[in-house]
Amino acid sequence: STFKELGLKPEIVKALTDLGYENPTEIQEKAVPQVIASDQDLKAFAQTGTGKTAAFSLPILQKIDLNNNQVQAIILSPTRELAIQIARNIEEFSTHLKGFGVAAVYGGADISQQMRKLRKGVQIVVGTPGRTVDLIKRKSLRLDSVKWLVLDEADEMLNMGFKDELDQVLEVTPDSKQTLLFSATFPREVDRIARNYMNDPTQIDA
Ligand code: AMP
Repeated sequence: STFKELGLKPEIVKALTDLGYENPTEIQEKAVPQVIASDQDLKAFAQTGTGKTAAFSLPILQKIDLNNNQVQAIILSPTRELAIQIARNIEEFSTHLKGFGVAAVYGGADISQQMRKLRKGVQIVVGTPGRTVDLIKRKSLRLDSVKWLVLDEADEMLNMGFKDELDQVLEVTPDSKQTLLFSATFPREVDRIARNYMNDPTQIDA
């Protein structure tokens, strides 16, 4: 199939064509139409390199309100490198979406610069768990308008000891949000997150 057939708007399809993405990967074929069509929570088994970043980013970009610059999606990732990479991909996918903004927030970098970026208003924030909690505590990051929460590499985040931070972020997001959890493995701790924080999730494998 093609990206157009998955239901993505022309501005997004054009960006993907510019990037040389010709056909969706398996996880993209499964996740993109599902998230476009339904608000149901989603658990996805996916390794890195499968195209999972586009699988969760594209349907969010499709549905995001470009006339509202409150944070509508928060994407949590285990490492600063991954957070930067995801934000960079989202910038590429959104080149033709007017009024769209994304910010990456992560530790080991100047927090005031990240606060300035957030103050300008962005619709998507990609963050590592510790820095995200820090910015919430400083009231620089507000998640009360969040419609989508993505937990990328959930198993890695728990392996790295971010359980408390995940709990803290999850607690300040609205109950009405859609949660998308991506993980290469499903150990007990990931299941606990899924059971405690997800509402009747559908599951996809790739
Ligand atoms: P990810 O698993 O999201 O880290 O993606 C792995 C690599 O595949 C990245 O370099 C992406 O830019 C690339 N990629 C993702 N989806 C596609 C696609 N449909 N066609 C071509 N390349 C892709």
